[in-house]
Amino acid sequence: MIQQKKYSPVSIPASSAGWMLPLLFLIFLSSGLNTAFGQDQKVVRIGIFTDCQYCNCNTDGNRHYRLSLSKLDSCIHEFNAQPLDGIFHLGDMIDHDYRSYDSVLPRFRKFTAPLHLVLGNHDYMIKKKVKPGLLDHIGMKEDHYVVDLADWRFIVLNGDDLSFSAPQDREHKNERYDMVNDLYSQLEFNALPWNGGIGKAQMGWLEKQLDASREAKKKVIILCHFPLFTKVNHNLFNNKEVFALISKYECVKAYFNGHYHSGDYMVMNGIHLVNFKGMVDTEKNAYAVVTLTAGSILIKGYGREPDRILKIK
Ligand SMILES: [Zn+2]
Repeated sequence: MIQQKKYSPVSIPASSAGWMLPLLFLIFLSSGLNTAFGQDQKVVRIGIFTDCQYCNCNTDGNRHYRLSLSKLDSCIHEFNAQPLDGIFHLGDMIDHDYRSYDSVLPRFRKFTAPLHLVLGNHDYMIKKKVKPGLLDHIGMKEDHYVVDLADWRFIVLNGDDLSFSAPQDREHKNERYDMVNDLYSQLEFNALPWNGGIGKAQMGWLEKQLDASREAKKKVIILCHFPLFTKVNHNLFNNKEVFALISKYECVKAYFNGHYHSGDYMVMNGIHLVNFKGMVDTEKNAYAVVTLTAGSILIKGYGREPDRILKIK
């Protein structure tokens, strides 16, 4: 299990009681009291936010870059007031400037629950010479990894594996070249500069993780910056290949991503594909607390993020 280096353990503040009541009602509605509170079923609760994408830049269209700091402060305040088992940021911490990390990283260290990062394309929108040291700078030990929380396993993918923005060795560059060529020849147009893909080695790793999860009877959520099937051209290069693999596994319950700031949701082959809304867009915040019960994924949205009650297969 890999996570950021410097974060302190989960705390359970007393102030969470007021927030708990509506959520408990949601759990009751969607799962039934016995299922949700069965003797060996631990409810897992995680915070999700994505595309904080801060930079000290003027607003551009919907992107209110400077506002991301105050939105992040609100998110930290809310998450720290709740008993969370973990927090995931789904990629694009910053935009444009390496110095943007100086404002974001100290804030990220304020989360009291363990914070896990997912790499996005904008995280690499920095000068070429600092790209190789990025993981160390932001406190990631590995670019793809697994986190276990009770019965749930979170498999974090690195969609920058084959992106145009991250540094790559010759093998990965060749792989990307072939993948992009194949996509264009098939009139698939998601091989765009702002998207990314999963390389062969990581696909093999993913399959091993899925086999092990099935064996261990874990319920799995895949997390990646890039969507699989949004309506716009923001999808992972090899979205179909990844979906074909994860669809083979009954244990995969959901795929969480960011990148497409407007957000999206669909269910395919019983897998919930949830695209969380980007924090940087509009003047209104967006983040979520996700409660995982034996039979449901309950999303309590804040700001622009909607509430969702998702039954799992
Ligand atoms: Zn992105």
